[in-house]
Order: sequence, then structure tokens, then C-alpha cells
Amino acid sequence: MRALCWAGADAVEVRRVPDPELRNAQDMIVRVRRSTTCGADLPLLGGRVPEASAGEVLGREFLGEVVEVGPEVRRHRVADRVVVGAAVACGACWFCRQGLLACCDNGTSGVTAEPEWGQPSAGGFGRPARLGGFAGGHAEFVRVPYADVGAFAVPESVSDDRAVFAADAAPAGWYGAELGEVAPGDVVAVWGAGAVGQLTAGAAVVRGADRVIVVDDRDDRLRMVARHAGVEALNHRYVDVLAELRERSGGRGPDVCVDASGLPAEPSRWPLTEADGGAALREAVHACRKGGVVVVLDARPGVVDRFPLGALADKGLAVRAARRRGATAIPELLARMARDELVTEHLATHRMPLERGADGYALFRDRADGCVRVVFTP
Ligand SMILES: [Zn+2]
Repeated sequence: MRALCWAGADAVEVRRVPDPELRNAQDMIVRVRRSTTCGADLPLLGGRVPEASAGEVLGREFLGEVVEVGPEVRRHRVADRVVVGAAVACGACWFCRQGLLACCDNGTSGVTAEPEWGQPSAGGFGRPARLGGFAGGHAEFVRVPYADVGAFAVPESVSDDRAVFAADAAPAGWYGAELGEVAPGDVVAVWGAGAVGQLTAGAAVVRGADRVIVVDDRDDRLRMVARHAGVEALNHRYVDVLAELRERSGGRGPDVCVDASGLPAEPSRWPLTEADGGAALREAVHACRKGGVVVVLDARPGVVDRFPLGALADKGLAVRAARRRGATAIPELLARMARDELVTEHLATHRMPLERGADGYALFRDRADGCVRVVFTP
């Protein structure tokens, strides 16, 4: 089959790779209909994760049609249209039983980042195999392990272009508002107007926030989130963000500050020496009202220097962080999509065949031409 593979350094290319096969009784094979770029791929493209091997198939978020099921798969049949959560989880270990599917101890394909992170990380599609990853969805076919846990039938009325965002972008964005415990009357500030930041802002509105303010440096993205989520937008190239946020929150600062800014554009090195980046996080801590909550939705593998510990402790801030939501939220988000309460297809600013994967990733990395997400069709 054809698949978009990491080709070393910052290159990706479409290669011929073997078709996936069932390996375990709970596996199924999905023929991909849509897959999207994800900010979490960018460290890989910058050559920042040497655990990756050239030839690994990229693609964290995808949707497709079931073509083969293992003997223990109960919830899916051949020809079902399904969206698949980006984290691979067993559904049975201690973490999965607590609902922490993105922290699963078993859903991993290999060596994990335990030395760097203290505990093994859950596996996921399109991550390096040595970081517990599985071949991803930028391909014609994907093997889906633990199919009954991570894959969900898409309601007939929900289009592929909408539902593909239920794989990870929407669960992660909604998790941002959930971790911030956004409540009616809150003022919420979100750094980053990529897909996850835009969906966090939308979720904060649904949870009853009084004001939601998105901070970014791209006018096109800010116009999009203002139009689709009905929120306020600040371009930090033109305004003093800290002064504006204070002004718009009764002089106190936002109750909840979410850093969904993703990765710094400039390259840095693995492991654990990432001295750049972190500007949005520092600004979020600075802006947040005393006793407020700072949420970090991040995909960077290393550390961030100059973490503002003094401000954090003195202001009594709570910090919560996540890389992924896990599949637990997907059924609810699909139901909201079916009722038109969650609209996502506009985030696919660019659509192209998988053959143009290298062009798509260049566009996505550079945020060129108003790019928020590129959706590929095999
Ligand atoms: Zn598990």
C-alpha cells in the first residue's frame, strides 16, 4: 500500500510499505477515508525525536471503513464507518479502568519514554515505534489494536470531513475546557488558534463561560475562531495581551488560562534540553488571576526552561496538563456533531490527496496560506 512516511530530518514522502495484517484477536483493519495533520508530528519533522526511524508511517488522526475484524472484536463489522482515537489503550489495565485511556500501560508497541518521563507513556498511532507508537493513518490501511476500545461508529448524518476531528483534535480541545473546570460566568483565555485551541474556545462557550478570548499571531485564524466559536480574538503582534486580558476580566485576570499554542516554530533538541518555547505558558501564568487554573495542552517531548515557579506558587495557581484525551469522550462528541452542536469541517482549510503529503506538511508547519489543518484522502 501507499503511505506517507517520515524520511528523516524534516522530510516526509509517500512510500510503498507492506499492507497491515491482523496480529491479535482484538485487532481490526481499517481502509482510511480521511486523515489530518497534527501538531504533535512537528517534533518528528524537525528531527527532534531520534527514537523515530525513517520509514515509519505518520498520521495520528484518521477515519475509515472497516475491512477486516479479528475474532474477538464485538462492536464493529466489516463496512462500518469508524473514527479511531489517537491513543491506543487496552481498556482493561488500572489506568484504563480509571477512565485514563491516554495513560494506558498496555497499549504500546515498544520501548517507551520511561527514563525521560518517569513512567511509560501510552501508545498511539503515527508516533515513533520506539516511543510506543503504531503505524499511523496517513496510509491506505491501518491496523487498529483493541478495536472495541478505541474505534467508534460514525453516525450516518456526520460527514467524514467533520468526524475526522473526533479522533483527537476535538477530544483534546474539549479536554482543555474540562481540565480547566470552566464554569458559567468564567473568563477564559486560550493561547493558540490552531484546531485544538479553537475547539477549546468552543467548548468553553458550551460550558457557559462569560467571555472567551483567544490569543494568536495570525489574523486569519483569529477571524475563523471569532466567526465560528463566537469568541473574542487578540493578536499579540498588535496589542498588549496582559493589559487587555486584565481589562476584560474586571482587573483580576482570566479564571482559566489554556496554553494550546503547540510547539515553538524554531527547532530544538531532544532530550531534555529544550530551552526555547514556553513563552505562551509564561504569559498564561502571568495573566491568570490568583487562585485560577492554568491548563497546558502540549505535544513537545522535552523540557521548558524559565518555568515561572515563583508566580505560580505565590498566586496559588493550579496547573493541569494533557497531551491527549483518550477515546472516552469520542461518543459524546460524535453525538454533538450529529446534532450540529459541534462543527469542525472548517478547520480543514486544505484538502489534498495523500500523494501531496509533503506539500501538505510544509504548508501546515509554516501555517502558510491560512492553514489550520490539512486533510488527506488516500
Ligand atoms: Zn489500558
